[in-house]
Amino acid sequence: MPTCELLKTCLFFNDKLEKMPGPAELFKDLYCRRDNSICARYLIAKELGREVIPRDLFPNHVEMAKEILENRRSTKK
Ligand code: SF4
Repeated sequence: MPTCELLKTCLFFNDKLEKMPGPAELFKDLYCRRDNSICARYLIAKELGREVIPRDLFPNHVEMAKEILENRRSTKK
C-alpha cells in the first residue's frame, strides 16, 4: 500500500493533535507511509467520513475505531 491519500490534510500526520503520541514518527512510517489499512483514523474516514474522526484519535487506537464503527452500524439498523 502506498502512502495514505489523507496524508496532506490528516491532523495526526501534520502534528495537529493536542497531544501527539511519543512514537509519532514511528507511527507515521508504519501507518501513513506504509499501510493505512490498519490505521484507526483511516478506518473511520473510509466508512464514515473524515469529519467523524475523533480529533485526538491515534492511528493505533484500532479498538476504539472498531467500537465507533460498531456503534454507528447498530444505530443505523
Ligand atoms: S494517520 Fe491514518 S488517516 Fe492519517 S495520514 Fe496516517 S494513515 Fe492516513
